[in-house]
Amino acid sequence: MTVAPIYRRVLLKVSGESLMGKQGFGIDVEVADRIAGDIKDATDMGVQVAVVIGGGNIFRGVAVASKGGDRVTGDHMGMLATVINSLALRTSLVKKGVDAVVLSAIAMPQLCESFSQRKAMWNIEQGRVVIFAGGTGNPYFTTDSAAALRAAEIGADALFKGTQVDGIYSADPKRVPDAERFPVITHDEVLARGLSVMDVAAIALTRENHIPIVVFSIHERGGFRQILQGGGHATLVTEKMAS
Ligand code: UDP
Repeated sequence: MTVAPIYRRVLLKVSGESLMGKQGFGIDVEVADRIAGDIKDATDMGVQVAVVIGGGNIFRGVAVASKGGDRVTGDHMGMLATVINSLALRTSLVKKGVDAVVLSAIAMPQLCESFSQRKAMWNIEQGRVVIFAGGTGNPYFTTDSAAALRAAEIGADALFKGTQVDGIYSADPKRVPDAERFPVITHDEVLARGLSVMDVAAIALTRENHIPIVVFSIHERGGFRQILQGGGHATLVTEKMAS
């Protein structure tokens, strides 16, 4: 029996690191194909999916700054890394028969289209998966903030943050075996406890715009679909706890 999805339109944030699989760097095509398969499952259910990809598997601006280099140039390089990842994910989606378009915050017309909110909405309404590349287009930001921004701009019902583990824990579950997973937590609590889910700007932006965040494991095949249907393992970050 097919279970109807509880979300209509979602923004999926995939970190660059999750694309590199077990490699130390770059893109593992098998992983990109698997994530594309999870996205296809969602679109097959009628869910509109837009994606923001990070660039940490290739380059991070802070790495340049920490070695005495120019942060802004480093961030430009990081944003270019997100474009590389976006093109890879589009390739994986197209291979699976999913129509997808890359919209970049930084114009590079030979490679992909430039972002505008109207273009994003039009493509979503045409049934395409929209991949937002280039982060926010500005240095000193992260792709988490870009995900929160784009989620607000497209009116997403939720921001899905794919991570290495299946939710938000009271401590690092890889180091603390009895760390507890929160089933539900508020944006305020995430900020107050300093939980490293997404950066502060991203949490604040989603809170202001009443967008819940679903933190789940990007590595669990089929996990995305289950959560979209109201099951699976995840932490829901919401404005208010149900009383
Ligand atoms: N970046 C940026 N502005 C943005 C988004 C990203 O300057 O709006 C740069 C920044 O240098 C960052 C890199 O791109 O380190 C890769 O993004 P991020 O670290 O968010 O990737 P992830 O950790 O999700 O792989």
